[in-house]
Amino acid sequence: MYRIPVGKKFPNLGRSGYHEQSFHPKDDMHDTRTSTNTLAEWEAFLATLDGGTNSAVEFVDRLLALVDQAPASDVHLDPTETALELRWRLDGVLQPLGAAPRAIAANIVGRLKVLAGLLTYETALPQEGRLVNETSGSEFRVSTFPTLFGERAVLRALGASASGLDSLDKLGLDAQVLAQFQTALAGNTGAILVVGPAGSGKTTTAYAAVREVVRQSHGGRAIHSLEDPVEVVVPGVAQSQVNEASGFTMATALKSLVRQDPEVLMLGEMRDRATAETTLQAALTGSLVITTFHAGNAAEAVQRLVDMGIPSYAVGHSIRLIVAQRLVRRLCECALEGEPTRDAAPLGVDVKRCMGPAGCERCTGTGYRGRALLAEVTATTDLRNQSTTIPFLSAATSLVEAGATSPSEVIRAFGWRRE
Ligand SMILES: [Zn+2]
Repeated sequence: MYRIPVGKKFPNLGRSGYHEQSFHPKDDMHDTRTSTNTLAEWEAFLATLDGGTNSAVEFVDRLLALVDQAPASDVHLDPTETALELRWRLDGVLQPLGAAPRAIAANIVGRLKVLAGLLTYETALPQEGRLVNETSGSEFRVSTFPTLFGERAVLRALGASASGLDSLDKLGLDAQVLAQFQTALAGNTGAILVVGPAGSGKTTTAYAAVREVVRQSHGGRAIHSLEDPVEVVVPGVAQSQVNEASGFTMATALKSLVRQDPEVLMLGEMRDRATAETTLQAALTGSLVITTFHAGNAAEAVQRLVDMGIPSYAVGHSIRLIVAQRLVRRLCECALEGEPTRDAAPLGVDVKRCMGPAGCERCTGTGYRGRALLAEVTATTDLRNQSTTIPFLSAATSLVEAGATSPSEVIRAFGWRRE
């Protein structure tokens, strides 16, 4: 993929709230800094748009202000035959956010490209850059992609997914799971794999894990990261961004990095055989490695690595712990009592009680506010000897019984279906 080099600006550590944000950082979107940007006012603004080209600048300003106040992780701008459709991701699920007239679609995307330092005349190739909202200091990764009706753009709020989840004990892990995780992080060798599907918060957990290492070691361990791209700055870690296009690949970087006397390595997602091989090799040769991998659970992760062509002895000997995880949305206070026998039937387990989503102003009508992490930990001594602490299903069941989430949300997050 064609990529514009980024990296001149990283999240400003002094930025207010970056570290202190609660689990659900920006949830009171109706009484925060600029009350001029409520969802109702946004909708009213959209209704006034008539396609005048100068409205693109105001559109982008208002959009950034709106996103700043909501707990949205992404905004999608999709050109169609008749309009520029907008959606935003709230607590992991895309929700509609209105539309702009077709006539200014290209200007809006163009404005985002200007702010992100992209080439405005280049519309036939994907591009990627960083945008800083000058008013609030918040940062977004902007990526564009050519489609039939023009360029679509996606804004990803940087650091937002990690907000408030900056240490392991804040992730909401079960005490037993947390203890096992912390023990593994105190080790000297082996790989700790954080696995889950896209959008399950793997990166957030990996960053929390590396912060835990920094905290535990009080500067006494040499900690390095090789990332693609660096998403969050972690004090105490020598962070580097790999760049496949310029030849600074994971493999070449690691070859030189071993001369830098590293003890703990956080490595970007194992996307292919080459990165998996390199990563697991590092874990076998005297470093503790924290990495992420796309797989549903521990067994699937092991199987996928073997399928990729990694020898099973290498998989068995290098992996110390597999943390499989999902994010489920938390029910808003407006939740209503559900009917356990009916609602929880697709889960295949008996629950004593459950709640379901309703929808109010506080949750912008979705019925959910904030998210909870579900994780199962599998310790691997060798391929045949795996032990899982608190499997997903029992963790999910207790969350449902506590009224924290709904059966339908668990089914959505896990992709479980009625048999
Ligand atoms: Zn609500």
